[in-house]
Amino acid sequence: MLNIVIFGPPGSGKGTQSEYLIKKYSLAHISTGDLLRKEISTNTELGALAKSHIDKGELVPDDVIIGMIDSFLDKLNKDTKGVIFDGFPRTVEQAKALKAILNSYKTDVTIMLNLQVPDKELMTRLIERGKVSGRSDDNEETIKKRIEVYNTQTKPVMNFYKAENKLANIEGVGAIETIFETICEAVDKVK
Ligand code: ADP
Repeated sequence: MLNIVIFGPPGSGKGTQSEYLIKKYSLAHISTGDLLRKEISTNTELGALAKSHIDKGELVPDDVIIGMIDSFLDKLNKDTKGVIFDGFPRTVEQAKALKAILNSYKTDVTIMLNLQVPDKELMTRLIERGKVSGRSDDNEETIKKRIEVYNTQTKPVMNFYKAENKLANIEGVGAIETIFETICEAVDKVK
């Protein structure tokens, strides 16, 4: 299987690049952020718990997220060519859990694409997105907190994949198509 972790700070373009990747490589896609927002919009218990963290810019607890990934992979069609993990793993604990789950299916993460975008550019993008997204966490105060959480809790995930020789750094500033070309070069080398 071709299993891709798309990684980077909030606003780095993970969702956008995932859409391109899904089409080109016919992959399944899981965005933990999208799944959580769906839980919130349908007023589930999990949604209420998620909202209490998301609105503060904090991470949702690992056990909740890992449970979601577990059930997503459990339901996946056995003929699936691979999966794009978007917004996951966000902690080293999650990265370890993902490895264990994928190993139980006799597969693993193939590559981790690390989208690099400076903090200042992220702020600008997310404030712009907030004007149209309607997302309760796209406001200046929460964005600052999300970037801080990324730098302290999520960045260490990079070292996890670096140690496994799976880290591919991608320049995340520029035209969407150019960034996608860089991504494809990295993916084609390992697929
Ligand atoms: P962004 O990358 O722009 O922050 P996401 O949609 O990926 O957007 O995530 C939105 C929020 O959902 C995060 O700030 C966090 O609170 C929660 N979340 C999403 N994925 C995870 C995860 N893997 N672990 C913990 N919390 C998560």
